[in-house]
Amino acid sequence: MARRCAISRRLRLRSRTILLVDMDSFFSSVETVRHPELVGLPVVVGADPKEGAGRGVVSTCSYEAREYGIHSGMPISKAYRLCPDATFLPVAMALYQSVSGRIMRILRSFACVDKFQRVSIDEAFLDVKANTLEDAIGIAREIKEEILEKEKLTCSIGIGLNKLVAKIASDMEKPDGLTVVAPDCVQEFLDPMPVTKIPGIGKKTEQMLKGIGVTTIHELREHDLRRLVSRFGKWGYRMHALACGIDGSAVEEDRTVKSVGREITFDEDTSDPDVIYDSIDALADGTHKALLNAGCLFRTVSVKVRFEGFDTHTRARSIGFMSSDPELVKRISKELVGEFIGKNKKLRLIGIRLSNLRVMGAESEIGDGMGARQTSIYEFIG
Ligand SMILES: [Mg+2]
Repeated sequence: MARRCAISRRLRLRSRTILLVDMDSFFSSVETVRHPELVGLPVVVGADPKEGAGRGVVSTCSYEAREYGIHSGMPISKAYRLCPDATFLPVAMALYQSVSGRIMRILRSFACVDKFQRVSIDEAFLDVKANTLEDAIGIAREIKEEILEKEKLTCSIGIGLNKLVAKIASDMEKPDGLTVVAPDCVQEFLDPMPVTKIPGIGKKTEQMLKGIGVTTIHELREHDLRRLVSRFGKWGYRMHALACGIDGSAVEEDRTVKSVGREITFDEDTSDPDVIYDSIDALADGTHKALLNAGCLFRTVSVKVRFEGFDTHTRARSIGFMSSDPELVKRISKELVGEFIGKNKKLRLIGIRLSNLRVMGAESEIGDGMGARQTSIYEFIG
């Protein structure tokens, strides 16, 4: 449908032209660039499979591996069972980051000044200057050529009048796709899609919408707005606007770190409180170090707990002031994890995340009465 819509590409654009560039199976593609003998073969980047006994998950896999049913986030042991002959490689994050840095520099050079937004290590929005859709397609082709020439990697690009449309379009024809949605085709493009294509609508919202007879974007758009708002609050408004193809959010660089976190998958599932609390101490120290590296204070501590069988829970607590106290991270994390201990179920993974961050420097925002906080801030600054 996107292709059919693109027939009106000579149409003069009065709206913004947004591109979402998403690298194709980024980590595994970078691996095949340095191991050309793996081109065309199933490659899985992630935890060590240990011949099926491995812990942890798949980070990324090649399209050939996907044909075996393997996907990101799957337990590595399952991936191994699905395709034991695949090449399993550890995550070489430093390498991917440096390749990402070079790609982002290329992408930035195509965007209007200050109209670039890196979304993740392999994905970015660009607001480009294009008078016609033809211009926009030309820019997308140049981007693809330059990345292929310099990094030997392919990407998929979506072009639309806003971030929502560009994002959904980018996912239509992977790998090496280029999908253009003309401004007058947005509704036609979105209507038949399931509501889960809208960013922010996950399984839970999907189920709630299903309960009121809404499964497609068209049904969401046609649904009574007042009923959506009474059920979902502000999110109801936003959801409805997105279903109508309306997304006014700007393409802008977000330099602030949103959160820092660490997690660990135990070598063996455990319900031993000593092992769990020791892990929390280590995770809290790691997370605190990342917080200091980012030069931030936190206000919210979250924990993630995954039981055997992948049953996953999160808990969060916010404090009434900004802090950088590692002991506070430990204490709150232990309290939050406490409810999951002694449940006759073993833990597989545990994680800590600090969010609601603020860049250090405004001492007046630091609370008092908890002692050690100011000390650790001065330790960092000094
Ligand atoms: Mg990608």
